Amino acid sequence: MKDLNIVTDTQLALPDTPYRACHFIDGQRVDSAEGRTSERVSPSHGVVVSRAALGGEAEAEAAIRVARAAFDDGRWSRLSGRVRAIVLNRVADLIEANAERLALMETLESGKPITQARAECSGAADLWRYAASLARTVHGDSHNTLGGDVLAMVLKEPIGVVSIITPWNFPFWILSQKLPFALAAGCTCVVKPSEMTPSTTAMLAELLTEAGLPAGVCNIVLGCGNPVGSLMSTHEAVDMVSFTGSTAVGKTITKVAGETLKKVALELGGKNAQVIFGDADLESAADAVTFGVYFNVGQCCNSSSRIIVHEDIAEEFVARVVALSRKVAFGNPLHPDTQVGAIVTPEHQAKIDGYVRAAVAAGAELCLGGEALDVPGVGAQFYRPTVLRNVTPDMAIAREEVFGPVLCVLTFQTLDEAIALSNDAHYGLSAGVWSDNVHTCLEFSRRAQAGTVWTNTWMDGFSEVTFGGMKQSGQGREIGSYGFEEFLEVKSVVMRLGRTRQPWVKTS
Ligand code: NAD
Repeated sequence: MKDLNIVTDTQLALPDTPYRACHFIDGQRVDSAEGRTSERVSPSHGVVVSRAALGGEAEAEAAIRVARAAFDDGRWSRLSGRVRAIVLNRVADLIEANAERLALMETLESGKPITQARAECSGAADLWRYAASLARTVHGDSHNTLGGDVLAMVLKEPIGVVSIITPWNFPFWILSQKLPFALAAGCTCVVKPSEMTPSTTAMLAELLTEAGLPAGVCNIVLGCGNPVGSLMSTHEAVDMVSFTGSTAVGKTITKVAGETLKKVALELGGKNAQVIFGDADLESAADAVTFGVYFNVGQCCNSSSRIIVHEDIAEEFVARVVALSRKVAFGNPLHPDTQVGAIVTPEHQAKIDGYVRAAVAAGAELCLGGEALDVPGVGAQFYRPTVLRNVTPDMAIAREEVFGPVLCVLTFQTLDEAIALSNDAHYGLSAGVWSDNVHTCLEFSRRAQAGTVWTNTWMDGFSEVTFGGMKQSGQGREIGSYGFEEFLEVKSVVMRLGRTRQPWVKTS
């Protein structure tokens, strides 16, 4: 333990009673018809922190019907962008006013450090404000040179009822990457958070009402992928599914939503690499590598779980990363010094450990970590920061999403080899390059098969800059103006203004 920076203290108390999370249907907070609930045990402290209504098909059906009616009667879609923006800006203000409450709940249910949960809430408020600004930008185009008195318009309209399904790793942040953009476009929504982290989504319901969002425009159903998420993906009254989660579930949703030809936008997994060239600022690169792999305990779609480092500097660079890894503050998420918190479930902790053991058995060398971590006085659902070298591209740990604080080191000699290794994955979410040579950075960025390429930085995100994956990391885009466009449908209107239409039927 002495070779790690462990935080055991706390600065925030655990709540006396678990939060009671309800569905939100037609503007009302409701329990499940049969009174079924699920409990969430805090990953870091092992105590029950929330009790949530556990929905079934009845609740999902009710929420979808309400969202459909709310869309069709135009109570939201026919308001001006200006009015929609006012409501969304109010939600942003209320998120900020309630940020401490939301952040604490996020930390208790997910195990992430409180400082990170606070940053997610302020980032979420910015997403709501940015989406509000987009509500006033919707416009199509017109054609007035088609001959005679023809005027054609291409209009942009809200796509309709959107099912929003989110994962547990950034519950409030990912919700805010989707919901305000769908609402800004004029859509109505049914939202399902992960059954493991339902509470901050349920808490948002109160803020939506306070901000003046009409009842029925956003509905929330708490529950499991089956049956709630399944019905949200298949129901004929739903026009689009916006999903963030695993590639396996994304593929299932694509299949079942295809029956009714719904639009499907997917943000899925990643096996992202940072490539380090010899001429890079190695101090910054090593710091970004530790951030990239330990942020959110590696339970992050953008985790840079692979580094591909030039052979000439590999020894020195790995030594730097290992030294920094020892200094990263792991432990009690309720202390503001903590940078890395708990693993989401004991099963997931065992899965991470299984990947590490299999890699070592296959010949990888463990430079640091490689076992579960018991934080004294806090809990045992932690995993030591882990660095593995001599990893080969065929090992499962180099190909699959481990979703833990585990770094694999691979090496290269030439730019072509580095690009090939970085692209050698089913996924294509993000990639990174570190070099002082702008030509190297540009060449890598152009050839990387990834939706986002970071050069001399990692996981720099902005509400304006769109995000999404190539290959099996997803389809469609989120946030930024491209993300907003996903929620808009295009309609052409062709008009003849005078009586110039030639009859089709010859009457004389
Ligand atoms: P998951 O796929 O298990 O679950 C995600 C959501 O889908 C949950 O709400 C779950 O209840 C629901 N679900 C499960 N089965 C369903 C079904 N058959 N139909 C409809 N909904 C269903 O993912 P997770 O474990 O919650 O999250 C981790 C995964 O999410 C990782 O793979 C990670 O990379 C990915 N992720 C991607 C991004 C991104 O932006 N690309 C961001 C965060 C997380």
